[in-house]
Amino acid sequence: MLQTRPPIIVILGHVDHGKTSLLDYLRKTHIAAGEAGGITQTISSFQLISKVFGLMTFIDTPGHAAFSAMRSRGSHLADLAILVVAADDGVMPQTKESVQLIKDSGIPYIVAITKIDLPTADPAQTKTQLAELGVFVEGSGGNVPCVNISIKTGQGIDDLLETISLLSQLHPREVDPQGPLQCQVIESRLDSQKGPLSRVLVYQGTLKIGQPLFHTTQIGKAKALFNSEGQKIDLALPAAPVEILGLTAVPDVGSFIYDQPQSSIPTSALPPKTSASSSRLKIILKTDTLGSLEAISASLDPAVEILSQGVGDINENDIHLAFNSGALVLGFNVKAGSSVAKLAEVDHVPLKIFKIIYELIDYVQEHLQPVTRETITGQAVILAEFKFNSDRVAGCKVTSGVLIKTDKFRLLRGQTVLGEAKFRTFKQGKNDVTAAKSGQEFGAVFSPHLDFKVGDTIIAFTTGHGST
Ligand code: GDP
Repeated sequence: MLQTRPPIIVILGHVDHGKTSLLDYLRKTHIAAGEAGGITQTISSFQLISKVFGLMTFIDTPGHAAFSAMRSRGSHLADLAILVVAADDGVMPQTKESVQLIKDSGIPYIVAITKIDLPTADPAQTKTQLAELGVFVEGSGGNVPCVNISIKTGQGIDDLLETISLLSQLHPREVDPQGPLQCQVIESRLDSQKGPLSRVLVYQGTLKIGQPLFHTTQIGKAKALFNSEGQKIDLALPAAPVEILGLTAVPDVGSFIYDQPQSSIPTSALPPKTSASSSRLKIILKTDTLGSLEAISASLDPAVEILSQGVGDINENDIHLAFNSGALVLGFNVKAGSSVAKLAEVDHVPLKIFKIIYELIDYVQEHLQPVTRETITGQAVILAEFKFNSDRVAGCKVTSGVLIKTDKFRLLRGQTVLGEAKFRTFKQGKNDVTAAKSGQEFGAVFSPHLDFKVGDTIIAFTTGHGST
């Protein structure tokens, strides 16, 4: 039977603007005191119990740059967002990125202007800067709820909770606690003594002790469950954050865990398909001078959408924006530091720097291909890995559709796309075969080489040109 579950609220904003302090404050003032035991706590997620406002689940999103991926998933996972902006600092780069994420995910949000107690606080100026970003708060010509808060004096905190409560009543979330279990991993680590530990958020169904758990295939069972206070619990209902002990592998942050094997990947895990509506190529452009910036942007095909442009080196925010929007990052006579390049690599963001303008223009032109459409033809899961001569062979089982030797495919770990490749060899036993269908196993070598692991998923697809 469908029931309204507690709201899941994500806190987003620039580093040092007070996200952790706000969570800390709420946790200290509104959590029923309990004996913490078992597992060391982080305060990345917890449930707040208020007599007046009921149960609410909060998720922090780490401010650290490398966690951009998780931050973007965080805002999709949640029902409501709180955009934290410090009154003394105003809108900063991660504020802009957070606004973009919130707008992309389409969830309702509240602006919390923090540090209102500081003598340098200027909430009016902050609201003006927000308006420049297209965030029009109540009282300043818009309808986005906005609350001034201070964790030093406690000002505004009850108003904030009341606003959350009102917004969540306006957007109730109904789920079936008896339905199939779906959890999303929000933190994952390998403990030297306890093994893999994962904090998940129960999205639907009920997570129960002893339950076998699955990604696409089984990844252990719930030997012990801990709530956000570190107390052992027997079950976790929808919207509860819970730590699971008993997994056999460390699942990726953002991936889903179920109570039964999955034959298909949720469509949200698939990279966006090219289609007529998304035929515009998005780029982020950084150049050495304003002159070159103007020259390049004037020469680009009108189908190119420049999401952000500026003078200066490529920085982590450029990569975050590209990651969140599917853009290319292009530089002209600028640098990208090693940490920026690493972030781009980890996030699979295409990053390229040119010294000659027409090469940059040509590169963009090459990416402006006619609209293509993809059809998923089959999926397989990697069950084993072995060596043959100097090759790494993936032992796979087809979970749906058909996989054909000449197919192109995408390799996914959880929801993360690791790359695209083709099959160099495709065998059943010792025999070369041309295809394998649902339920059949095959061994394959990939070209180019992809760093696969047992549990990864293969999604085969064909592309064709569609009409616009
Ligand atoms: P985060 O990076 O967004 O999680 O920011 P933190 O919560 O770590 O806060 C950064 C700094 O701002 C810390 O030194 C906090 O004590 C301080 N801070 C946070 N909220 C307030 C507030 O309401 N008033 C004042 N005066 N300081 C605050």
